[in-house]
Amino acid sequence: MKLIRSTKCSLKFSTQKKKNDLSIILEEYSKVVNIFINYFWLNPDKATKGELLKPVVDIPETWLSARLRKVAAREGIDMINASKLRWKEKAVIPVHKGDRMYVSCTIADLVPSKDSTFDAWLHLASIGNKMIMDLPIKYHKHFNNYNNIGKRLNSYLITKNYVQFSFEIVTLPKKEGKKCIGIDTGINAMASLNNGNQYGLDIKDCIERVKRCKQGSKGQGVARRALKQRIDEIAKEILVKETPDLIVVERLKNMGKKSKAKRLLAKSIRRSIGTWNWKYWLKRLEAQCEINRISFRSVAPYYTSTTCPVCGHSDRGNRNGEVFLCLSCGHTDNADVNAGKNILNRFLTGQYGVCYKEMNEVQKCASLF
Ligand SMILES: [Zn+2]
Repeated sequence: MKLIRSTKCSLKFSTQKKKNDLSIILEEYSKVVNIFINYFWLNPDKATKGELLKPVVDIPETWLSARLRKVAAREGIDMINASKLRWKEKAVIPVHKGDRMYVSCTIADLVPSKDSTFDAWLHLASIGNKMIMDLPIKYHKHFNNYNNIGKRLNSYLITKNYVQFSFEIVTLPKKEGKKCIGIDTGINAMASLNNGNQYGLDIKDCIERVKRCKQGSKGQGVARRALKQRIDEIAKEILVKETPDLIVVERLKNMGKKSKAKRLLAKSIRRSIGTWNWKYWLKRLEAQCEINRISFRSVAPYYTSTTCPVCGHSDRGNRNGEVFLCLSCGHTDNADVNAGKNILNRFLTGQYGVCYKEMNEVQKCASLF
């Protein structure tokens, strides 16, 4: 299986002159993309990425090179397609905001550095106006990791602040095995497993440290990084100690305003770790699973904490803080571990065994009620 993974490298080592030049390029590029968007929006039959004819490429009055104009035209087509795909007949004309530029080997090339100050230079040429730029790049842990296990692709996302590199990583087929674990995500323990094991019992402290700091302060940045690091560690620890073949988690609902889903979930989110952390946690856990060839699935997140895994009785009264006690059959357990059991059951009993990403909105609703 092939995966695409990406990582960002900061452009903070560039001189002010380079930063200014990059801003000017991005601004012009954005202007050109928007001209193409307007053109292709009115002439959808011309929007074929394969053969961009010279008269089309020459439409914008700009100093950008023909190569970069082609890149801009393709990005314009992509943006229109994305808008139509997302909004169907309600699609509105998209606008490029000038914050980013996707370029490939026709414009950019990563050249290893000869001295030790930087690891490499991102060499930009054929921009237009005889402009040539070399942006200094320093690699980091993630970059080196992906570079070791994967193949770097010749495509770059450039913004004012960073360059994003992409890697193709080939993984072996998923392991065929039987060890499945259900994981409940919570504040008392980051992860409570159906087998009774719990991981990240210190997560509450880590989150509270972030909350205690002044919003946007330096201290909060430090605490947030520490929290992220801790989440990464917990994800790895579970895989090392449990050696599962399949992991099932509760999906985090995308909550619209006043939706029934939101009302149902409001409570569980409050006693949970926060939407942002939850999202990050699922993302890291999924990434670890991919690298280790472990299947990763998710189920709808409703009533997992109040349902009895023994008799199936579902009642809000079944849960009292950290204790689960079934009002019908008397089964008792740690409430979070109990939720972990329900999550695994929900997956194993069939209709919820749907792949995390492939599930569409209709299926989500169907599995809800
Ligand atoms: Zn029961």
